This record gives sequence, structure tokens and C-alpha cells, in this order.
Amino acid sequence: MRQELDDLLCQRYPDIFRDRHGDRAETGMCWGFGCGDGWFDIIDGLCSEITRQVKAGTMPPVVASQVKEKAGYLRFYIRGHFKRHENPEAYRLIDLAQQKAERTCEQCGAPVEMTENQRWSAHYAVCPACAYTDFTKEKQLLEIAKKVVMNHSDMYMHPPRDPARINVVLDKLREVWERNPDLRLAQLIVNAAGAIGPCSDIFYLEDEVLLHGLATLETMAPLVDGKSVSQTDKHSRL
Ligand SMILES: [Zn+2]
Repeated sequence: MRQELDDLLCQRYPDIFRDRHGDRAETGMCWGFGCGDGWFDIIDGLCSEITRQVKAGTMPPVVASQVKEKAGYLRFYIRGHFKRHENPEAYRLIDLAQQKAERTCEQCGAPVEMTENQRWSAHYAVCPACAYTDFTKEKQLLEIAKKVVMNHSDMYMHPPRDPARINVVLDKLREVWERNPDLRLAQLIVNAAGAIGPCSDIFYLEDEVLLHGLATLETMAPLVDGKSVSQTDKHSRL
């Protein structure tokens, strides 16, 4: 979510978002609002109703512990997440907001109709217009990236890496992974990297999707300069 909208929510609902800049060991709010601008109105409406009821004394106060998109759904977690019975009204309002988000484009706020199957395969709720813009933007970025690699490779030159490391890394990876076979490969890598951000795009990547991506890379590799990546001049690699 854009910084201005993030600031606006914190300014309007300082009690609910009092942990916005809290310690990351204690609250997920330290990452800000992990969703698109299109859900701003839903979060704003939810917080406005919570604030009204707390002031009226009809429900206990609420402090958000994480607000994000997960697999296409809005998730609004509050402190005491496992004690729903202590604040049933808050959970009723949160459920309503989450249901509304399922029918709202996360990026622009337009209404979206998606079947359960579409949602599971797309993993996000965006309207066709936003999906198309994303797709063309990605294609444009890919073209720009290719030009940068081809024309200005020396600007991004990395010392050549030793190909012998590949087996060393893969052997270690296999060893650790076989000891933790339930982990997704990407999850294992994010954990091993000790990433400070949530890296949710990578972390939740299923191995089948990764395999598909690798197969795509294999067919794209010759596009760099007519040779496979392993055959290109070492200095043209990023
Ligand atoms: Zn949209």
C-alpha cells in the first residue's frame, strides 16, 4: 500500500495501529499494510466501525497485529488472535471486511467476480484491467532489463562466479532438504538466507510453480544473445 494511505490509516486509527512501528519480534504491523491500495476503503471502513463501537462501549479495544494479502485474501489479524470469544464483534466485522475484499480488486478497488478455482490458480484478487496492466508492465520491464544487460553489462559487472560451487550448493541443499522434506524449496532458501523481510512471493512459492518457472527460464536463456546463459561471456551475466 502507498505510504500516504498507510500514514492516513495510522493517523485516523492510532489506537488500532499503535504497533505500526513496533518491534518485528513482537508484531507483524512493523511491515506496514501488506496489500494493494484497492483495499484501503475496506480497511478504513472496518477500522471506522471498530472505533465507533469501542467508543460506544459495545466492544473491547482492538490492536492490529498484521494486515496483509495472503493468497488473494485480506488478512486482518489482531492481538489475541486465538481468543475470538473475548471479542466476537471484532471478529464478525473482520470476517465481513475479508468477504468484501474477496469481491474487490486489490489494486484499484473495482468489483471483481472470481470463482474459487480462478482464485486458487491466480492467487490474487485483481480486476482484468489491473491484471492486463501488470502483464504489460512486466513485459516492458523484461525488455528494459534485457537492453540493460546487453548494452550496459559492464555497469553491472559481477566478478565471475566459480561453476564448481553449483555442486557444493546443490549437495548441501539436498542434505538439508531431505532432513526437512515438508518444506518448500523456496521456504528453505528464505529461511537459510535469514531474510529480514517477509519475502512472501518467494516464501510461499510451491515447488511445482518453481519447476514451471525453471522450465520457462530454460527456454528463455538463448534470448540473451543467441547462446545459452552458461555459454555467454561471463562479464555479461548479472
Ligand atoms: Zn483493478
